[in-house]
Amino acid sequence: MTTNEERELIKKIALLNALHYGGKAQFQPVLGKLLTEQPHLKARIKEIIPIINEIVKEVNTLSLEEQKRIVEEKWGEVPSKERVEAVKKLPPLPNVDKYEHVVTRFAPNPDCVLHLGSARAIVLSDEYAKMYKGSFRLRFEDTDPRLKRSALPFYDAVREDLKWLDCKWDMEIIQSDRLPIYYEYAEALLKNGGAYVCTSPPEKFRKLMLAKKPCPCRQLSPNEQLTRWKKMLDGTYKEGAAVVRVKTDLKHPNPAVRDWPALRIIDPKKYPHPRVGGKYRVWPLYNFSAGIDDHLMGITYIIRGKEHLTNQTRQEYMYQHLGWKYPVTIHYGRMKITDGVLSKSKIVEGVRTGAFTGWDDPRLATFVALRKRGILPETIRRLIIEVGPKTVDVTLSWDNLYASNRKFIDPMANRYFFVRDPRKILVKRIQRATTIKTRLHPERPERGFRIFKIKPKNGEAAFWISNQDAN
Ligand SMILES: [Zn+2]
Repeated sequence: MTTNEERELIKKIALLNALHYGGKAQFQPVLGKLLTEQPHLKARIKEIIPIINEIVKEVNTLSLEEQKRIVEEKWGEVPSKERVEAVKKLPPLPNVDKYEHVVTRFAPNPDCVLHLGSARAIVLSDEYAKMYKGSFRLRFEDTDPRLKRSALPFYDAVREDLKWLDCKWDMEIIQSDRLPIYYEYAEALLKNGGAYVCTSPPEKFRKLMLAKKPCPCRQLSPNEQLTRWKKMLDGTYKEGAAVVRVKTDLKHPNPAVRDWPALRIIDPKKYPHPRVGGKYRVWPLYNFSAGIDDHLMGITYIIRGKEHLTNQTRQEYMYQHLGWKYPVTIHYGRMKITDGVLSKSKIVEGVRTGAFTGWDDPRLATFVALRKRGILPETIRRLIIEVGPKTVDVTLSWDNLYASNRKFIDPMANRYFFVRDPRKILVKRIQRATTIKTRLHPERPERGFRIFKIKPKNGEAAFWISNQDAN
């Protein structure tokens, strides 16, 4: 015995199949599709076959128009070619066969909420991890309590934004928890001659460095380096008096690479850290802590903006000193949005002074603001995937963003309208009360209707039309 439900399903498959083949359903694909959807029916195949035959015949007596109408009325879906639009995928990662497990990361400084400028790093890293069933990891880079000071609310704000973007991370570290680890590697480098404590005034170091000459501190013995290091830690050296530098090729064509600074002193009384307070006075600089952590977190692919190319060159010297293998890097171009404020300092300043109403001020391109504007996370993911990891700069406009967003919103959103700049008109000689029904969604009849009742008084009723139409 076939149930009514089963007959309905066969009818639906047959009708959709008919629409696909210009009005004539075919037995074989209908059977195939039915068994894919309801594999348990295989056991009753003998009983099902005549029913399919019967329904296919019945469907084929209908005209294409009637078939379409039934499908629309019953299930509210007309298969259209636009909907099967191919979804663009990211290009494969280079040398991916050399890694058992792809591990990517996103490493924000929690000194502001996230904005569209981070979208590329986040989405590409998370998407590649998903594509290869690898891991995506989160690292809070909060080791500059002086100039890029983090603030407690932003740690959670970042987590919220990532969740909204549908990112899942299987490891989270906060750099301000890891000072002892950085100290351990600083000591290892001072011992093995990969780094030195430089106490020269910055101007003196700069002159020597530009002349491709070593600073005198560079040649001191490891023991002397470790003594100096202790003086950095115990407060003998004050802020600005000493810095740990990683040794590089002094003749490197880019002066910014030569013997780059790895750790420095920040007065803990003047600049307490929002999480760990005055506990530490020596703080790692970006290239040191990021480089150490990428290795310790097992990152295999670093996906970041091309402004980081020099950082890779710097860090590779440190990796050599430590005998580590540098991860594969992918450097993409900048992404801007027209008229969207993407500068962290401007955002923070504007929110502080009240020039912006908050982090979700619609003039900002922060994720909270985009959320408030009705932009879906899928839209952002899709846009980033479509652009991919190429190195050219891209500029998005709000129009791009809205056009893409509409594709996702369209099937979900019921239709409502407003009358812009309305002008009232009076229609006369209306014979009787009328009801007008408009579908809540043109392709989803099952959602029902909006109903407008026109009740004329003395044969007259008022309507509003837009001023532009009126003109
Ligand atoms: Zn020096």
